[in-house]
Amino acid sequence: MKCVFCGGRVESQKVTFVYDYDNNYFFVENVPAEVCVQCGEKTYSPEVTDELIRLAKKELKPVKTIQVPVFEYVDQVWSWI
Ligand SMILES: [Zn+2]
Repeated sequence: MKCVFCGGRVESQKVTFVYDYDNNYFFVENVPAEVCVQCGEKTYSPEVTDELIRLAKKELKPVKTIQVPVFEYVDQVWSWI
């Protein structure tokens, strides 16, 4: 299988899926994905995608809840006067 974006080689890996929609965040660990070694693009199988959608609908309980620090990148203009 080849990456649909860059044509690079893809390999099967377990990745952490980050769901980010409408200020709703969660991580899904150990998700099987095909990852492009060249551009890093992740592709999920239809079965995995279905499961991720189920998780997004909160049909299952999370195994753990973690707190993560959230930063916002701000362009600082420093004034020394
Ligand atoms: Zn690629």
